[in-house]
Amino acid sequence: MVFLLTAAASVRAASINVPKSASQGEVVKILITDPNNGEYRIQFSPVGWPQNKKIILVSAVNLGGEKQIALIPIAPDEVTGIALITIFTQQSGNTYAIEIKKTNFPVAKGVTFVGDPKGKLKEKFDNEKNELKRIFALSTPERFWKEDLKFVAPLKDMAVTSPFGQIRRKFSNQYGKWDINHFGADLHAYAGAQVFAVEDGTVLIARHWLAEGNVVIIDHGYGLISLYFHLSAFKVKEGGRVKAGNVIAKSGQTGMAVGQHLHFEIRINGIAVSPWEFMPEPPMFEQKAALSPVQKKRGAE
Ligand SMILES: [Zn+2]
Repeated sequence: MVFLLTAAASVRAASINVPKSASQGEVVKILITDPNNGEYRIQFSPVGWPQNKKIILVSAVNLGGEKQIALIPIAPDEVTGIALITIFTQQSGNTYAIEIKKTNFPVAKGVTFVGDPKGKLKEKFDNEKNELKRIFALSTPERFWKEDLKFVAPLKDMAVTSPFGQIRRKFSNQYGKWDINHFGADLHAYAGAQVFAVEDGTVLIARHWLAEGNVVIIDHGYGLISLYFHLSAFKVKEGGRVKAGNVIAKSGQTGMAVGQHLHFEIRINGIAVSPWEFMPEPPMFEQKAALSPVQKKRGAE
């Protein structure tokens, strides 16, 4: 009898839930229930693969019990159509089709001229870009995020001044014209507003960069990070631990910021996804309201 029960348990198959579709900027959540707690590697092969080499490879993260989850970021500029997700165990690989749907991101007015830095300035720019690349490649094997992936808001009063994914036309003498998505959301915040950590984690970066200004980047584990730009003051140090809701900085207008605001980003494996995958989407900021004295205090301490 004991033998029979054991045999029955060992043949209980793992169940794997892969969504049939996802839109640009979303997070694909693959849920795995495996009584044997096997190891799973998940590969996202984009539309146009193998010519399109932007493959994403992630490990499933243990949630305790028999449950695991894998998070696949769908970039705001991910190619639309039928992509493939392959789930590898130690013994096998199973491939699923997933439809990547277009998100109609708004297009920003006008063209932004981008200067081509030279000499010492270029060196500093390049160093900062390389530091970002290093951070985007990190995957700390410790999970600070909760299973429901619900984060707290980075500001007390949330209103969007420039949406996530917005398509921006850029121009530089060196590279000519190109379009790029806004990788974060700009939130209305007067300088001095308290900025909160959206989830528990470790402070990776708390320093000044040329474009981003004063930057805080928090590592939430397994490739999930949050980024806060253009800050006026730091309330944390690199290497420090934070809890969701802790004050990490004051908002501002440092770096290449047009006006006071908080640029807020969430990335998975270095790929920017919609922050509203982790919290309710706030309304657009009403420009007119900014003129009233009551509204002027909004977001300020
Ligand atoms: Zn921004």
